[in-house]
Amino acid sequence: MAITPSCSDGYRRGGRTVDLGAAADAVRALLVALGEDPERPGLAKTPARVSEQFALAFSGIDADLGAVLTDGGLVETEPVRGVVALTKIPFRSTCEHHLTPFRGHADVFYAPGDAVAGFSRIADLVGLAARRPQLQEQLGERIAEAMDDALGPRGVVVRLSATHECIAVRNPASANAEAVTIASRGELSVSEVLGELEGAPKVQYRYNEASSRISETDSS
Ligand SMILES: [Zn+2]
Repeated sequence: MAITPSCSDGYRRGGRTVDLGAAADAVRALLVALGEDPERPGLAKTPARVSEQFALAFSGIDADLGAVLTDGGLVETEPVRGVVALTKIPFRSTCEHHLTPFRGHADVFYAPGDAVAGFSRIADLVGLAARRPQLQEQLGERIAEAMDDALGPRGVVVRLSATHECIAVRNPASANAEAVTIASRGELSVSEVLGELEGAPKVQYRYNEASSRISETDSS
């Protein structure tokens, strides 16, 4: 997702105007509020850099996620009885509570209906869906929803595993703690799909429909 600013202080993307100048002013104000001197040499260009970086990180805010899968046409197939998966798709998103990154990988499983998506399109979907402020839970739901809407599959399971910078800032000892979320649609069995993924029957997944989270417990 390349961003091409149309001028020095802003650009339009879809129906949304991104005001890089106003964003840089806000970063400058934040630095002052936190006791820094934004005019000192090391920070002089920081507000502009930060605003451009956030603009890139948020460039998926108004994206049509389904179109990522359907642009150029779906691949019509003979009925596929099994499950199709693309796993270990890396992503980097932004926690909407702290505006800090969370990063990890996505495993996307689906049981196709009459169409399948190219694997690279699924990776593109994950990458674009990640480019906005959101909770990890919402990212998984957005990916599952786009798969469900665009492909009409019999079922979808999206498993996200990520480390969160906001956790690391508060508690460096927990920096590598992985948050795991599951989103699903349709008839795919979450426990069967993820048990297959791990290939480790001693790992038990507890799926909480209400919170869309699972916890893993070693039952051996
Ligand atoms: Zn956070």
